[in-house]
Amino acid sequence: MSRLVMKFGGTSVGDVERIRRVARLVAAERAPDGKPGRGLAVVVSAMSGETNKLVALAEDAGKGLSPDRFNDEYDVVVATGEQVTTGLLALALRAMGVPARSWQGWQIKVESSDAHASARINTIDATALGEAIDAGEVAIIPGFQGVTDEDRITTLGRGGSDTSAVAVAAALGAERCDIYTDVDGVYTTDPRITSKARKLDRISYEEMLEMASLGSKVLQTRSVELAMAKRVPVRVLSSFVEPGEPNPGTIVCDEEEIVEKQVVSGIAYSRDEAKVSLKGLVDHPGVAAEIFGRMAEANINVDMIVQAPSRTEGAVNMTFTLPEREADRARDILVAAKDQIGFDSAEVRKDVSKVSVIGVGMRSHVGVAKTMFEALSAKGINIQNISTSEIKISVLIDSSYTELAVRALHTAYGLDAVA
Ligand code: ADP
Ligand code: ASP
Ligand code: MG
Repeated sequence: MSRLVMKFGGTSVGDVERIRRVARLVAAERAPDGKPGRGLAVVVSAMSGETNKLVALAEDAGKGLSPDRFNDEYDVVVATGEQVTTGLLALALRAMGVPARSWQGWQIKVESSDAHASARINTIDATALGEAIDAGEVAIIPGFQGVTDEDRITTLGRGGSDTSAVAVAAALGAERCDIYTDVDGVYTTDPRITSKARKLDRISYEEMLEMASLGSKVLQTRSVELAMAKRVPVRVLSSFVEPGEPNPGTIVCDEEEIVEKQVVSGIAYSRDEAKVSLKGLVDHPGVAAEIFGRMAEANINVDMIVQAPSRTEGAVNMTFTLPEREADRARDILVAAKDQIGFDSAEVRKDVSKVSVIGVGMRSHVGVAKTMFEALSAKGINIQNISTSEIKISVLIDSSYTELAVRALHTAYGLDAVA
């Protein structure tokens, strides 16, 4: 019996009518030729807006608590959103005559690390689950949630249902993981930013990984990492269709499976950025290790590090970027260690965005950076920091230019859809 995992995001299960449509799509996949022929596990998100509501409730109740006294109970609260959807979808399927039951994270067990609020899945015991779906019963699984080896509930970070789905697909040895969402595939850039964005038929795991980690929230970064590591074919497609309507979506696959390779496949942006500038930093070995050691200890991910000579003799200036919500904490940590590290001042700016161009073709083509810098300069957009990897170039700019920059680059790399 072949096995398939389907995942539905928050908007796709936003009300009971949408849940019924999801149930119709599930029923059609279970019995493609009219008779049950496929083991199905369905991973669902909380209904749209629910997680935000639960987060706000937890933050209100736990005001002032440090993360180590807050995050475990935050997980207990926010993991409930997904549980509601599992029950509703199971009921909607049963009402259609399709055998279905919900399986909570602790029932399966989706065992995760104990890094509450951003846990990672360690193992999934899929034996009982596999037997149930092979026997024809659809399994409905809450995304986003896990359980520690001490039976405490965890969540996998915002957008984590994608990762749950890929992990379940890997554990079940499923033929594919279909991620149903409110767009009909992965686009050259966020279709909310430009109507000229084009749907891609295929994108490589590596490019998708860069797109996700640089801000395209269509898939959670960790889900792409996991799919790439476990070789799970992933398809992103629309949930706003009825069974039988064309819905090819975008296949995320190995680079070798893509015939028509673009130099640049996509443009990503992230507004969740801040910049920390340290002025008058002593210029001797070990300073960077001192700074970034402290950031790592505090679990703060930094990016785009630039060091430049200062006007003061024997000193340098250093800037780096990090997620906006971590900026004040990072500055406080650094300021508290000012004398040990040795610098004059620390400044935080939150009005910055990161815009990135991504494409495996960059490995073998020259002039990609030139095109980017020319396109931004033609719009009068100043570049504050630059970082590159083999398949991406990112720039930090004033956040008020984010959309302008994305559109300009989309055109400059010839990605615009022909009208
Ligand atoms: P879900 O609730 O189904 O998980 P998300 O809101 O997490 O859905 O992700 C889908 C959204 O991702 C789309 O509505 C779209 O605005 C956004 N998005 C950002 N970049 C892209 C892209 N390159 N291609 C498609 N969608 C993108
Ligand atoms: N409901 C969670 C969130 O909103 C997880 C998810 O939808 O992927 O982040
Ligand atoms: Mg999502």
